[in-house]
Amino acid sequence: MNHDIDIKKVRINCFRQSKVAGEFMLQMRVPGAMIEAKHLKLVQDLCERFGNGTFHLGTRQTFDIPGVKYENIEEVNKYIKSYIHDVDVEMCGVDMDVTDYGYPTIGARNIMSCIGNAHCIKGNANTYELARKIERLIFPSHYHIKVAVAGCLNVINCVKANFNDFGIMGVNKQDYDIDRCIGCGSCVDACKHHATGVLSLNQNGKIDKDACCCVGCGECSLICPTGAWTRGDKKLYRVTLGGRTGKQNPRAGKLFLNWVTEDVILGMFANWQKFSAWALDYKPEYLHGGHLIDRVGYKEFVKHIFEGVEFNPEAKMADDIFWAENEQRGNMHVMPLSEHKHAGPQEPAAKKA
Ligand code: SF4
Ligand code: SF4
Repeated sequence: MNHDIDIKKVRINCFRQSKVAGEFMLQMRVPGAMIEAKHLKLVQDLCERFGNGTFHLGTRQTFDIPGVKYENIEEVNKYIKSYIHDVDVEMCGVDMDVTDYGYPTIGARNIMSCIGNAHCIKGNANTYELARKIERLIFPSHYHIKVAVAGCLNVINCVKANFNDFGIMGVNKQDYDIDRCIGCGSCVDACKHHATGVLSLNQNGKIDKDACCCVGCGECSLICPTGAWTRGDKKLYRVTLGGRTGKQNPRAGKLFLNWVTEDVILGMFANWQKFSAWALDYKPEYLHGGHLIDRVGYKEFVKHIFEGVEFNPEAKMADDIFWAENEQRGNMHVMPLSEHKHAGPQEPAAKKA
């Protein structure tokens, strides 16, 4: 069957073109990667009625429905209306009209999360709750942005937060109750093996800490048998900036903020759309968030993104950031072996070459 297919239009509605002519894959948002299991029935139904019967778990934690025929897209868009309403409007509190025309934009990508402290004993933050709050600030928007939220700060954490424009990680300042400490030294070992080695047992059999280099992971609280170390009440975050994948110049995000509160994070995202609009001269175009920050420059970006945001007293921010790109396009460090540079005494054949 021939179609007059507007690929760009259906792409905005989150349908990705397939290598099979006339077919598309729907990508459904799952902000924070946590929803009620009841929605899975609808997903299964979509796959079987409109897709090719298979299901793909998207790499950005979307529900992907492959094999949707172009002529069925209209019907699929109507079918997912209840899902968009339940997940984005009801669950996340997004201010949007849910229509018969499916997702209104693909710009702001699905916000990824690890399971966080809803389950993980190492988690310092409820990741999906924060993701839902961010969703309502950045979606729907045509401006491209990738965000991931991790419960702890393993630098390459379960959700690979630092390969996103914004990688958010839960951290925590631990409280120490000296009277409960029996001097067993478990926290010293745990910190040394799993974290930074900033703890030591002093001559009184109590703990000294080099507070400057504590990263706030909570391994000490996790191991302490008497509850002398406990996670503090204040929820704090570390944020990396400017990570990205890509064919030409992928790079890891760099440390941007540390010990900031949720209010700082949400204040920052509340400014994202305004910042993007300004940076792109009010003409949304397909430009990854990280490239947008590059175009504007770090200092200018900071000025815009924190407009009206009040920092908590513990907060720290990078004065400047210099990213190291993993340059792919120029093939600068991969070349035929015959072109490799040689040093030292050469075999006659190599000399000749
Ligand atoms: S929170 Fe600090 S002191 Fe405790 S294990 Fe982590 S780095 Fe060490
Ligand atoms: S693990 Fe707890 S009890 Fe043992 S030395 Fe550390 S703080 Fe004290």
